[in-house]
Amino acid sequence: MNKLGILMDDRYFDHAIEPHSLENPQRLRGLFPLVQERYKGAFEAVIPREACFEEIEQVHSRFYISQVREHAVKPNPFSYDRDTYLMDQSLATAQLAAGGCLEMADRVMDGSIRNGFALIRPPGHHAEPGRGMGFCVFNNIAITAKYLQAHYQLSRILILDFDIHHGNGTQEVFYDSDKVLFISVHQKGLFPCSGTPTEIGEGPGRGYTINIPVHSFFGDTEYTFLFGKLLNNVVEQYMPQIILVSAGYDGHNNDSISATTLTSQWYHTVTTMLKQCARDICGDRLIYFLEGGYNPESLAESVLATIDSLLAPEQPRVGIFHSKRAQALFHHHPLNEFWTL
Ligand SMILES: [Zn+2]
Repeated sequence: MNKLGILMDDRYFDHAIEPHSLENPQRLRGLFPLVQERYKGAFEAVIPREACFEEIEQVHSRFYISQVREHAVKPNPFSYDRDTYLMDQSLATAQLAAGGCLEMADRVMDGSIRNGFALIRPPGHHAEPGRGMGFCVFNNIAITAKYLQAHYQLSRILILDFDIHHGNGTQEVFYDSDKVLFISVHQKGLFPCSGTPTEIGEGPGRGYTINIPVHSFFGDTEYTFLFGKLLNNVVEQYMPQIILVSAGYDGHNNDSISATTLTSQWYHTVTTMLKQCARDICGDRLIYFLEGGYNPESLAESVLATIDSLLAPEQPRVGIFHSKRAQALFHHHPLNEFWTL
C-alpha cells in the first residue's frame, strides 16, 4: 500500500521576526522531531522545491509578487499589514512552502504516495491575489489547485477549510469558478470578518462557495455533525477528483485566538471522515495544508492526532450525534438552493 507523504523542512523556520509574531518558527520546531520519532519508517518524506514565479502568478498579481520580491529580501522587517511581515528569508521560505505543496500534489497524482500532509509555513489561506494578510504571504492551497487544473486537467477540486478563520484569499481566487468547490467553516465575527452565508460565488461559480460561520461555543459534537452533513451530502453530490484541506488548528480549546472548544481528538475524527470520503469518491487523493494553530502544544497534539488517523488502517465509520444547534445553521442557508442536504 502506498504511504502517507509528509512535507517537513527546517528551512520553514527561516521566516521569522523578533520579537516573535504569533505565527513563528516555534510552531513547528518542536513538532518536527515528534513526527520523525513517532512515525519513523511509516511515512514518505516529501522534499520541497521552490515554486517559480510563473506558478505563483496563477494566483497572485505581478504587482503583489514584485512587492514581495522587493521587501522580502532585506534585513529590515517590512510589515505588509499588522500581522504579515516580510524579512530577508521570507521570499525563499514562502516559495518553498508553495513549491513543497506542488511537489506533494505531483506525488499524490502519480500515485507514489497515497495522501499527504504539508507541514509548512508561512500559511496561505488569507493571502488574496493582490495582497498578503493574516500571516499569509502566498496562498499555498490555491496555487496547488491552479497547478492541478493546469497540469492534470482536474475540473472538480474540493477545498475544505476548517481553520477557525475564514479562508478569504482562497475564496477570492475561485469565486467565479465551478471547477473548485470551496467550503469554509469558521467562527463568526473573527478576522477577517468575511465569510457570511450569503457569499456563495458568482457567475458560473454561484453555489460553489459555501460559508458556514459557527457560534463561538461550538465544539466536537457540533462540528462532527456539520462535517457529516457536508461530506455525506454536498461533497458526495460534487464528486471531487481530489480533496485539499486548509487544516488550521486554531479552533482548539487551548488556542486563545478563538473561543471554540475543539479537542485534539476532533481533528482525528474529521480526518477519519475525510479519509473515508476520499477513498469512496476520489481514489484516496487527500492533501492537508497546514494553516493556523498558535498554541505550539495543542497544535502538535492535534497534528499528531491527524497523522494517527491518516496512518490508521481501515477505521469504523464515525458515529454522528444529532446537534440541534448545528442543524439550525442549515435552516435558510443559501446552499440549500444548490445542494440537497
Ligand atoms: Zn486561522
